This record gives sequence, C-alpha cells and structure tokens, in this order.
Amino acid sequence: MFKRVPGTRDILPGETECWQNIENISRSLFTRHNYREIRTPLLEDEPLFNRSLGETAEIVQKQMFLIKREHDVYALRPEGTASIVRAYIENNLDKQQGFVKLYYMGPMFRAERPQKGRLRQFHHIGCEAIGSYGPGIDAEVIVLADSLLKALGISGYRIALNSLGCVSDQQAFRVFLKDKLSGRLNDLCADCKDRFGRNILRVLDCKNDSCRHIIRELNISGSSRCAECESHFSSVRRSLDALGVSYEISPNLVRGLDYYNRTVFEFKHDGLGPQQDALGAGGRYDGLVKQLGGPDAGAIGFAFGVERLILASGLKAETEMVQPGLVYVITLGDRARAAGVKLLADLRGAGVTADTDYEGKSLKAAMRTANDLKARFVAILGDDELKEGVVALKDMSNSSQEKVRISELTDKIKGSSK
Ligand SMILES: [Zn+2]
Ligand SMILES: [Zn+2]
Repeated sequence: MFKRVPGTRDILPGETECWQNIENISRSLFTRHNYREIRTPLLEDEPLFNRSLGETAEIVQKQMFLIKREHDVYALRPEGTASIVRAYIENNLDKQQGFVKLYYMGPMFRAERPQKGRLRQFHHIGCEAIGSYGPGIDAEVIVLADSLLKALGISGYRIALNSLGCVSDQQAFRVFLKDKLSGRLNDLCADCKDRFGRNILRVLDCKNDSCRHIIRELNISGSSRCAECESHFSSVRRSLDALGVSYEISPNLVRGLDYYNRTVFEFKHDGLGPQQDALGAGGRYDGLVKQLGGPDAGAIGFAFGVERLILASGLKAETEMVQPGLVYVITLGDRARAAGVKLLADLRGAGVTADTDYEGKSLKAAMRTANDLKARFVAILGDDELKEGVVALKDMSNSSQEKVRISELTDKIKGSSK
C-alpha cells in the first residue's frame, strides 16, 4: 500500500469546504481592495530563490526541494514573492500599469524537519503591491491583512511592527549588533555563532531561549534608522493609529529573508503550538525588483499560512459533511428510472445539487444512502407517481412528505432551501 510523502496531507471532502470558505472570503476581500489574482508556476529556476531570499537564508540553505533535469536545476517554490516579482518583470507589468496589486493562493514547499510537525507542502494566501515607495500602501497592506483575519473570524492575535530601515541603516545596525554580541558569542546557540559571521541580523530571529534572552537584554531601540526611514515609519504608524489598528513596535523583528527593508510585520497568535507563533508576515522589499533585473520599484506584501489560519480560526478542519441543498432522487421500476434520469438532469440544470442511486437498490436501502449523504430532500418516483406526473417529496429536515408536480419541483425545492 502506498502512503503519502511525510510532511504532506490529503485534504478530504468535509475539510475542503473549510478551505473553499477561506479562499472565497480572501478572494472577495482582495477584490474589494482592487487586487487581482496571479498564478505563477510551482517550479522556478533555482537561482531565482538564491538571489532573492539570500544565500544565507535558512530556506535556501536547508529547505529547498530541488529537481535536476539534464543541465537545469529547478526548485519547488518555497514562497510566493520571488516568483511574483519574476513574473512582474518578465511580463512587463510595470510598463502596462506602473503600480500593480496582486494576490495569490496555493501550495509552497519547504523541506522542514517533519518531527517538528511542520508540513513540507503547505499553503499560502498573500498579496503583493508593486510600484510604490509611499507609506500609504504599507498601511493599506497591514490593514488588509488585519481585515482578512477578522473576516475569517480569527481573534486573539497581535501585530508586531518594525522598520528595518534602508540598506545603510541595516549596515549600521549590523555594526551595532556585532559590537554588542561579540562578547556573548559563547552563550549563543551553534546556529547563531554561524549567523554572527554570515548574517548577524538573523540572530534576532532565533527561537532558542538563551539566544532570545541575550537579545532581549540588548534593548534594541531602532535608533540606527536615518531621518527619511524614521519619517516613513512614523507615517505608517499614524495611518494605522487613525484607522484604529493596534500594533506593538518590535525592534527585534527582522524576518529571515534578505529582501526586506523598512516596514516589516508579523501577525502572532498563541494558539499555534510551540515554536510557531506567526499566522503570517510581510514587509517591504524595495530593492528586489531591481535586483532581479527589473525597474526601480518599491514593493510590499504579506502571506498567511492557510493551515495556521484554520488552526487559529478554530474552524474544525473536519467539519461534518454538510450538503445543504442535496436532493436525492429514488426511482422504483424501469420506466420510473428513465424519468428519474431526466428529472435529475432538470434539477442540476436549474442549479439544484442532486444525485441518485445507480445500483437499483430497494427503497429502504436507497433511503439509507440518502440519510448517509445527509440529503435535504428525497424525491421518490414510482409507477403510480409517474402516471400522476408527480413525485413524493420527503423533506428530511422534518420528515414531512407531500406530492409535488414534477413541473413544479424545482421551484418548490428552491423555495424551501432559502
Ligand atoms: Zn534609512
Ligand atoms: Zn540562536
């Protein structure tokens, strides 16, 4: 017997309804903010991710799924932003519109250690606004992410907000950190000793308790930001304040990817289990479009993990299989069966969800199936009913039964299902 690959899941009927609900709510919200959907391939050239996420990013170093084929190396996308920026440049979206707002949803792949209970194929819902440096879009994107969580019925989360400043601010911050941490090197975890030399900002990302303690003691204040970055950041904060969105300033928030600058944020939730408290995150990546060969274009986006949204929303992943409007057609005898096929087609054609028994079961057995399927109505058609031009319609919600003319059945069902 074959088993699914570790770190992957089957999303079954009963659960897919919950996913569709999240997708529909997201689509509607993005559309109202004038974001349009983009669908990029799951496969990209490997160097796209090395270039954009950074060679020292943990994702690039340890978690990429690579596929070698002849002389090419492809990667299964570990996140959405790099692919979308690639698509933005390759399809000249900047020349068509200048400023574009895009959203996406779909699977991402990272070779996480399965013992941590993390998935290797997981799903993101996110958006990217490309083509503006203005702080107005930062605030809109954060408010949009906040509205999305609210629309999904999620509460009890906090928004952590920081500004990484520009390239030279980050350089100054690295110097500050090097200076402060060089005396504590022996107390840092093995990963952080490595990060100290390669990319010291990532020390702030460490989940190790003793590293976190050391970092807290540094009392990082964000004072390495230049005047321009400071004014951008205060404008973002003022907009959020004006809209009544509460947030916490988190000077330690750096995000693990090279492309971020200025505004970064994380939506944290305590109900997700140990070592993972982020529902989603995002930030500005003003240098990335140019770095990947495109024009100068400021950009910002966010992504939520769909599995985490489901956890936090308390939506039961395995909701009961509900078929609110299902009509189950039961026919008795050959002539009725032919008429039943026509009836089924008419119901479906009129937008009613309908099904039947294909095995020629007895009335009792067919009724049992209708029950198992949680049908709302059962329409029984035998020779007597056929002669009269009616069906015996049973409303399963209250077990009442009545004769309904076949020509009036669709209207009757549509009226009752409201
Ligand atoms: Zn700056
Ligand atoms: Zn560490």
